[in-house]
Amino acid sequence: MIVKPRIRGFVCITAHPKGCEAKVKQEIAVAQAAKREGGPKKVLVIGSSTGYGLSSRIVSAFSHEAATLGVFFERPSQKGKPASAGWYNSVAFEKAAHEAGLYAKSINGDAFSDEIKAQTIETIKADLGQVDLVVYSLASPRRTDPKTGETYRSVLKPIGESYTNRSLDTDKSEVCEVTIDPASEEETAHTVKVMGGEDWELWMDALDQAGVLAAGAKSVAYSYIGPELTWPVYTNGTIGQAKKDVERAAAAITEKHDCAAYVAVNKAVVTQASSAIPVVPLYISILFKVMKARGTHEDCIEQMVRLFNERLYGDDLRLDSVGRIRVDDWEMEPEIQQAVAAIWPEISSETLSEKSDYAAYQENFLSLFGFGLPGVDYAEDVEVELDLPSAHS
Ligand code: NAD
Repeated sequence: MIVKPRIRGFVCITAHPKGCEAKVKQEIAVAQAAKREGGPKKVLVIGSSTGYGLSSRIVSAFSHEAATLGVFFERPSQKGKPASAGWYNSVAFEKAAHEAGLYAKSINGDAFSDEIKAQTIETIKADLGQVDLVVYSLASPRRTDPKTGETYRSVLKPIGESYTNRSLDTDKSEVCEVTIDPASEEETAHTVKVMGGEDWELWMDALDQAGVLAAGAKSVAYSYIGPELTWPVYTNGTIGQAKKDVERAAAAITEKHDCAAYVAVNKAVVTQASSAIPVVPLYISILFKVMKARGTHEDCIEQMVRLFNERLYGDDLRLDSVGRIRVDDWEMEPEIQQAVAAIWPEISSETLSEKSDYAAYQENFLSLFGFGLPGVDYAEDVEVELDLPSAHS
């Protein structure tokens, strides 16, 4: 079929298999150009199909020749309808990894469940023995607690008082004003249940108890801090509370297991998760313009190359005062933040194109779903029903 983008708010409900493959290949080329010795060898990536998790998997495989096992929650093609982007990304990743002679298998299901943890452990036992790196890169709006069966939903809200700021209406390409009411205590607690560190700890406990976590292994989960203008809805909001809990979990994991667990604070990039956060897409559009002008623009793959090659497996983790790895360092440079802050009051629907790189934001967003990639013939009929190559191995 001919696949076209069908955008609904901050998601695109279609994805292009060849476009997703082209995007994965672009990331692979960046990782291959940054090959290093001394990296991880057997890697479990939880949340490996899109965004930072996908790039972590690509760097593990193509900079470090690691065997990778990926866990994600994606929609395969059903009744001739295109699959989700993360499904096509994973098909393309596995295909490229197998062609390069690397082990790559994937497990599609709810990472919060006991069943998927058990299936992952069985696969590691059977194929890899142990893993020496666990990347935890889930971004999910809900989680069912496997012990109680209760389902929690996360919200992106300020705490204490309402928050008003400029935001992007991407449907209309307009700058608008949003006001977000503060979260209730229950909403904050539920967001911590979903996006906090509890499930990361459960994974690490399960892996260690099963004997599949190598001695001296490493683990990393991702966080964000960003500029003061987004603090009410991010760092000081419900998601910020969850991220504090991820930091708590890192310390608990390091304490309990023979494993060094870190939180890496990454830069703001366009992903399916970040497009859903109010205010952040407008900030990213301005940030792109400012960082490109300074020559420090990065996407997920460049961030993960720096994280793996210079920090996690480099000479110096360069931890901040509370023990986090910072690859948001270039985003947070005072010159960058001052330049963004100077543009912020001037941004309006009329000045959007001139004062920000909104065009790049839109291109980046479409590319998440495999659209707008060079060398892909979008008028061509494509096969949308693709299996994961590992399903046949
Ligand atoms: P993303 O939406 O691109 O990826 C989320 C991944 O989680 C996908 O692989 C998806 O399949 C998987 N997933 C979601 N629910 C699942 C479930 N129940 N079971 C199994 N897999 C599931 O998100 P992202 O932006 O790459 O975010 C990953 C992490 O990076 C998050 O912790 C996020 O807070 C952090 N982070 C993101 C940014 C950013 O700007 N996007 C910046 C800094 C840190």
